[in-house]
Amino acid sequence: MTAATGRTVPFFAPDLFDTEREALLAALYEVGTDPEQKFILGRRTARFEEALRDSLGAGDVVACSSGTSALTLVLAAMDIGPGDEVVVPAFGCAPLASTVLSCGATPVFADVDPVTLTMDPDHAEQLLTARTRALMPAHMFSVMADMPRLRDLASRAGVRLVEDAALAQGGTLRGRPAGLWGDAGVYSFVQVKVFGMPGEGGVVLSADAGLADRVRMLRNHGQDGRHRFLHHRIGHNSRFDEVMAAFQLHRLAGLEERVARRNAICSYYSEHLADLREDGVAAPPAGGDGRFPYVYTLLCEDRDGLRDHLAAEGIDTHVYYPRALPEQPAFAPHARPGGQWPRARDAARRNISLPLYPHLTDERVEHVVTAVRAFAHGRKP
Ligand SMILES: *Cc1c(COP(=O)(O)O)cnc(C)c1O
Repeated sequence: MTAATGRTVPFFAPDLFDTEREALLAALYEVGTDPEQKFILGRRTARFEEALRDSLGAGDVVACSSGTSALTLVLAAMDIGPGDEVVVPAFGCAPLASTVLSCGATPVFADVDPVTLTMDPDHAEQLLTARTRALMPAHMFSVMADMPRLRDLASRAGVRLVEDAALAQGGTLRGRPAGLWGDAGVYSFVQVKVFGMPGEGGVVLSADAGLADRVRMLRNHGQDGRHRFLHHRIGHNSRFDEVMAAFQLHRLAGLEERVARRNAICSYYSEHLADLREDGVAAPPAGGDGRFPYVYTLLCEDRDGLRDHLAAEGIDTHVYYPRALPEQPAFAPHARPGGQWPRARDAARRNISLPLYPHLTDERVEHVVTAVRAFAHGRKP
């Protein structure tokens, strides 16, 4: 860290909720003193689901306890289990593999596109077998997966499409929001996500009423919401918190503005970093359709050198993810023998993400850009 605190740029900002602290305390007081004393799955959760559904034009929205749990509920609602295969990207977060394994099915790892870092539809197609039940692509960092082609592939193959949009809230592709391309999609509200909150939570989005009903049942021990202690299905405990529902309802109106500010920072990064490819620093594809502003991820041969250089300039960075999923100790035994994912492995070796949040000041964004450029040019022969 440099001594000049004005020049230090955290990656995980500790002050994400500072301007909303009053609203958070008000939500806590309101729920805590409500004579109803209902702290999960109450009327605020129902209102939050409706508000999100209406703002997105979604068929149904079901709130649950996390993005990971949302994926688990979707797979369970699709009756995916032992003997079934789900094609997932080889580069991404652990829940893409662990949720499939937890329901007894087998993840099949597709390599990623080297530029978008999302599931390569051609490789996914090559991996289909008679056991394949679903494709589960994820939008990665700031680029949506190729949903039109994956939608088409899923339809042709007669398999379900589960869209992991955990970090892609605010993105749209061909006018359709991220999360609404799959038979079911999910968002996560964990702290750092685009609509992150100070707690755990997520949602399932689906236009398939039967599927959404099953998810709603599964999130609360397989009950139907009318008959207590009547368990129709083997369910889960994946309920949503009323304080968080009140807080998110309050903040929903400001989401668009926060996404716009994140988009502006993304655009600035792109304008000033897109020309560094020749110098060994590759920016994501420029803004436009199918982009969303989660974090801004560069690919760099000397990733650790860039990381050290930025740290010396007081800029925190983050590596999502340092290993391809099928090379993780937990998942390697379940990967198809002889599987190849050279581009996922390459992405794991080269990725580095820059800070991105709505209250990142112009001055700090400029400081990041200047430091990345200095590194790239310093390395020119
Ligand atoms: C964060 C994330 C999840 C998991 O969400 P949690 O709410 O942390 O459980 C799943 N998939 C992707 C792509 C994510 O980024």
